[in-house]
Amino acid sequence: MLECEVKSGWAQFIEFIEARCSSAEFENWIAPIRLIESAHEETTLEVPNVFVQEYLLGNFKEVLADFLPLRASGDPAIRFVVAHPIPRNTSSPSGPIEPDDAPLTDLKLNPLYTFDHFIEGPSNQFVKSAAVGVAARPGKSYNPLFIHGGVGLGKTHLLHSIGHYVLENHKKLRVQSITTEAFINDIVDNLRLKSIDKMKRFYRNLDVLLVDDIQFLQNRLNFEEEFCNTFETLLNQNKQIIITSDKAPGQLKLSERMIARMEWGLVAHMGVPDLETRVAIIKHKSELRGMSISNQIAFFIAEHIYNNVRQIEGAVNRLCAHSRFAASNLNEEIVERILSEMFQTTTPHKRISVENILKSVAAVFEVRISELKGESRHKEIAIARQVAMYLAKEMIDDSLMKIAASFGGKTHSTLLHAWKKVSDQIQVNEMLRRQVQMVRRNIET
Ligand code: ADP
Ligand code: MG
Repeated sequence: MLECEVKSGWAQFIEFIEARCSSAEFENWIAPIRLIESAHEETTLEVPNVFVQEYLLGNFKEVLADFLPLRASGDPAIRFVVAHPIPRNTSSPSGPIEPDDAPLTDLKLNPLYTFDHFIEGPSNQFVKSAAVGVAARPGKSYNPLFIHGGVGLGKTHLLHSIGHYVLENHKKLRVQSITTEAFINDIVDNLRLKSIDKMKRFYRNLDVLLVDDIQFLQNRLNFEEEFCNTFETLLNQNKQIIITSDKAPGQLKLSERMIARMEWGLVAHMGVPDLETRVAIIKHKSELRGMSISNQIAFFIAEHIYNNVRQIEGAVNRLCAHSRFAASNLNEEIVERILSEMFQTTTPHKRISVENILKSVAAVFEVRISELKGESRHKEIAIARQVAMYLAKEMIDDSLMKIAASFGGKTHSTLLHAWKKVSDQIQVNEMLRRQVQMVRRNIET
């Protein structure tokens, strides 16, 4: 009797969810899940990858709890098994481990991380178009493409988008996506199995290599050399490499040789999205979850969470879970209550203004604030002014036009030009980098 109820529990959940999420969401995330077993105390589900598992629990834990048996903790009692990927060869799985069976990472791309789902804005337009260029003509434009930027800004999303695009449009090319950690683990495992040559061949036979989070290679001296050799071999054969990192190449604690290789192609920065872009992201993410958030609420969230898209997404998830798809009766008060912790943790202690920045730049560069706002082309003043503009764009969340106007009525293209120039200069000019850091620290404390 109970078993029968449990069995229909999953089916009921599916019915409930299907009626409430978009068809894309359902197809991408829910449909691939298979019910393996529903026992009294536990439901076993097979998922194609851990993303699907995380997605299910991240978004529907409470709904699942309404339909499935629970653990003592109140969580739904679900056991997940990840489906076996299609084996690379047909040798018996119980036989001795052949080098070909070596646990090289399988291509794991998040199905939702595609170009279509990537919202563009001034902060990421350049890096997105570089990514599209590389995906369209792998190995023929910028190589490697190095994408750097803060946590949760969409680097992995863009990286996987390139992977999806290549798989779909260049069917003959072999793509591999790895995290730096996984690459290191592969080396360790293959050393143990004495199959390191096989592994080398595997990596070196790829056409497109996607490397996520290269910063984890820092302080891993033994592995850095192997990584670098692999890179060089691939680059010499015009095989495409795309790397993400939380810092620019020059700021990573890696060998000069490695840094030089990474700077060989195009280094693109991923910035913090501006208000309008964040609103567009909130609207897109909520629609993916079958919920439509009004512009007013989207702006409200975007104004309170501004430096990390992953947090914005977490906020949307939380809203969806709480309001159980009844978005129409959300108002600012309810949203603030539901998201209050997220708002608090992301609100800076102090609002940074152009005036704060000018004051700090004037002190460090020993110029007057009036000179920073003026027109003088005197070299020292011009550089200080550009640094102030760079920091204003980096640190202040306002439209470029408004920020530019605070510099004695400059235009937004002057601001962008200054920002680009300083971004480039601090990669090569150690002195300037230190000065910029000093100003930034003064402003932030
Ligand atoms: P990173 O690798 O830079 O830490 P991720 O790529 O993991 O960040 O992005 C975090 C989350 O934010 C992902 O779910 C991603 O889909 C989302 N995201 C980031 N930027 C965008 C964007 N421009 N458009 C849509 N989603 C985005
Ligand atoms: Mg990432």
